[in-house]
Amino acid sequence: MQSLQHGRTAANPDQSGLLAPDTSGMNFYRADPALRDLLRLHLTDALFRHIEPHLDRLGELAGGRLDECARLADRHGPVLHQRDKFGRDVQWIEYHPAYRELERAAFGEFGIHAMSIRKGILGWPDRYPVAAKHAFTFLFNQAEFGLGCPINVTDGCAKLLANFGSEELKARYLDGLTETDMSKLTQGGQFMTEKEGGSDVGKLTTSAVQEGDHWRLYGEKWFCSNADAEVVMLLARPQGASAGTRGVGLFLMPRRLDDGSQNQYRIVRLKDKLGTRSMASGEIKLEGAIAYAVGRLDRGFVQMAEMVNSSRLSNGVKSTALMRRAYHDAMTVAKNRVVFGSRIIDKPLARRQLMKIMLATEQALSMSFLTADALDRAEAGSQDAAALLRILTPTLKFRATRDARKVCGDALEMRGGIGYIEEFATARLLRDAHLGSIWEGTGNIVAIDALTRAIGRHGADSALAADLHARLDESVQVPQAWRDRLRDLTDRTVGFAREVVAHSDNEAEARRATSLLYHVASAVTLAWEGARIHEMSGDARRLLLSRLVVDHRLSAGDPFRLTGNAAQRKITACMLGDRGVGMSEVGELLSAT
Ligand SMILES: Cc1cc2nc3c(=O)[nH]c(=O)nc-3n(C[C@H](O)[C@H](O)[C@H](O)COP(=O)(O)OP(=O)(O)OC[C@H]3O[C@@H](n4cnc5c(N)ncnc54)[C@H](O)[C@@H]3O)c2cc1C
Repeated sequence: MQSLQHGRTAANPDQSGLLAPDTSGMNFYRADPALRDLLRLHLTDALFRHIEPHLDRLGELAGGRLDECARLADRHGPVLHQRDKFGRDVQWIEYHPAYRELERAAFGEFGIHAMSIRKGILGWPDRYPVAAKHAFTFLFNQAEFGLGCPINVTDGCAKLLANFGSEELKARYLDGLTETDMSKLTQGGQFMTEKEGGSDVGKLTTSAVQEGDHWRLYGEKWFCSNADAEVVMLLARPQGASAGTRGVGLFLMPRRLDDGSQNQYRIVRLKDKLGTRSMASGEIKLEGAIAYAVGRLDRGFVQMAEMVNSSRLSNGVKSTALMRRAYHDAMTVAKNRVVFGSRIIDKPLARRQLMKIMLATEQALSMSFLTADALDRAEAGSQDAAALLRILTPTLKFRATRDARKVCGDALEMRGGIGYIEEFATARLLRDAHLGSIWEGTGNIVAIDALTRAIGRHGADSALAADLHARLDESVQVPQAWRDRLRDLTDRTVGFAREVVAHSDNEAEARRATSLLYHVASAVTLAWEGARIHEMSGDARRLLLSRLVVDHRLSAGDPFRLTGNAAQRKITACMLGDRGVGMSEVGELLSAT
């Protein structure tokens, strides 16, 4: 039987024995049987066997060398230079060698940015499904979140170009975006936000003026991550085009021109950020920069939305990675630090905190796989999966990024005062976690997207309801009463979301409705996974997480009622223990009061 727990307990012990160890030296893949189980559920056997040794290696690096690089790169952020050493006006950004090492691992050794576009990465003859690619995203981001953005936008740029670019543009730029040879790689960027509007993209003022076979761009971009990217996708309004999002076109802007000189735009300064300090986000002035139209000019925003949506999924996965890392850290402390005569993990109140950290993390992991799987099926041509993806993407982005803030804060606190000190990763995790819910759409924007657009405009709620019901129908091993409970909750949640959508007066409920959609989808998915993992390993504990979601996220609590009853204590013991639990015991716990 497999354990949901990580096996390793005492890395880097303080020789005096006074302070708890941290996760240094932990292999984040081996420490994560849930990841392994979910990969086995979602991938073919052949693909799983192929990637496992690579995940094992990345897991080891992420818990060791890459984590140390991430710490250094965070402390020694990028520096913008205006001139080269000969005094010429050539802008360049200086990165710490640790950041360069992180780049070599992500782009060069593992090729995470190219996995879903280029065949042959890591010796696999085909492209990877998104579910497999994001297993690498998940492990890498447990060490380094800042570089997660350039990896993802390089991937997104290549995808946009592949889907909408002319043959000529593809021939010039696609290869570089998907290179794993670092001397040939050209990283991507996505510059959308302007002072006038990040959320309200229709207000953007950057203009594009046609000049022969190319365009010239004028204006300012206010938030440009991976500021010195060689290939940038951006939105600009062609001269004379209409106002609003309908009038914006999608353009590809190279950093360098054919003669090797810099294109006509300047990085005015780099942002001094709370988190992702390793990575350069800048403000950019476009001073007649040469750019090329991508796809149909009147579909610029719609095309860019594809990149935004795949970034939202990536964001959800990366926030899940932060939570998993935080969970590992919290468990390492709890198992090793002794307070008032016993280990923290043996204290009832701390056990409850650990369960909260675990629950949000496992929900996000399940929802990440559910969404990635929907994307894979949608790309294979399934209309149902496309509708499902439409609602799962903002739902995951909304809740997982918000949960990451709390989980990282709670894990920091588990380490006590020293968790607040920058020598430990917990402080960095918390700073980074606050970004997930802002970029690629703030909480309000993605909640409105899930409700007003995904449900109101596209009717994606029916696809979600159908998918969740089908999962419950398939899970015949799960006790009938529990399946009925989940069916009822699914219907009530979807009904509530429809009610919110029905009247614009209800918009203020959009966040609550999106959270409920997330919780019910995760409860059903955890049950579905639990039944399958039980068949593979005899361990049905994932099903218990489904009950915890229902108890703590989908039930109106009476604030005066005691909740730490015997059943809850037993469930906590199962989840925090190392022993697998069979279906009959789990079945009893599902109905125990
Ligand atoms: C570190 C960092 C890196 C970034 N990198 C990039 C990048 O590479 N490329 C890029 O294009 N952008 C980037 N961004 C920008 C980011 O995507 C935007 O900041 C974000 O989309 C919000 O836009 P805004 O800042 O203009 O805020 P606003 O749109 O002004 O929002 C302000 C507040 O209003 C709320 N709000 C807006 N509309 C509504 C509504 N209809 N109902 C209720 N509330 C609403 C928002 O939720 C928010 O709380 C980055 C941001 C950060 C912090």
